[in-house]
Amino acid sequence: NIWISRDFDFFYFVQQWPGSFCDTKKSCCFPLTGKPVSNFSIHGLWPNFSNGSFPSNCNIAENPFNQSKITDLIPRAEKGWASLSCAGSKKTENNKTSSDNTRFWKHEWDKHGTCSDLILDQHAYFEATLNLKDRVDLLQILQYNGIKPDGNLYSIVNITKAITQAIGLEPGITCNTDPSGNRQLNEIYLCADKYASSFIECPILPSRKSCTDMVEFPIF
Ligand code: 5GP
Ligand code: 5GP
Repeated sequence: NIWISRDFDFFYFVQQWPGSFCDTKKSCCFPLTGKPVSNFSIHGLWPNFSNGSFPSNCNIAENPFNQSKITDLIPRAEKGWASLSCAGSKKTENNKTSSDNTRFWKHEWDKHGTCSDLILDQHAYFEATLNLKDRVDLLQILQYNGIKPDGNLYSIVNITKAITQAIGLEPGITCNTDPSGNRQLNEIYLCADKYASSFIECPILPSRKSCTDMVEFPIF
């Protein structure tokens, strides 16, 4: 039954802090459009089950990523959903390496978007994701609470509290490790309903075990 094989309970809407993606041993690359603004950016919109498991790569054969279906959304995606990965990167004219936004969007659609494509087609999926980002300004919320991307350490409890108070829903937080081994604020998870039309209380939060009590909030 095709419906059961592509069912899910809710979406994780995941945003990354570019300063943390870049501050690792692997480093990062910028898109051809240049250095992204210093703000959280979209990682993805991921169908998930309430028990924490998730479907992936559901329908690539029949519904592969096709950028011509989202032409009108590209300017918004370039701003809010930039890739910072050097993997599969292109060399630009002056021989610098750049990231490849299209490759990132394709990866996210093929791995995650194809699992919700009975509800959201490609255009609806990308548009809904970009709309979710416009509804919550995580950096503004954190800065209002004195939590700034200045390379200092902040407590996970305070980061969580600031966002919970601002939007009334508890976020998930994950961390990564900088080249000297310090944990830093990497990604913030919010949950959305199956239509990606509103934020909801997360049925299950991602594990915080990648974080220490205090984490760095790197400059970008
Ligand atoms: P990581 O192991 O770096 O946290 O995640 C690697 C990839 O696995 C993510 O980019 C994402 O595609 C997928 N992933 C990790 N955790 C989750 C999750 O809780 N839900 C879903 N739907 N995908 C996840
Ligand atoms: P996931 O499987 O975790 O959803 O997505 C991670 C994949 O997307 C990796 O293959 C990674 O190389 C690629 N990718 C490209 N650009 C980015 C980026 O800016 N951030 C993250 N987290 N992954 C990216």
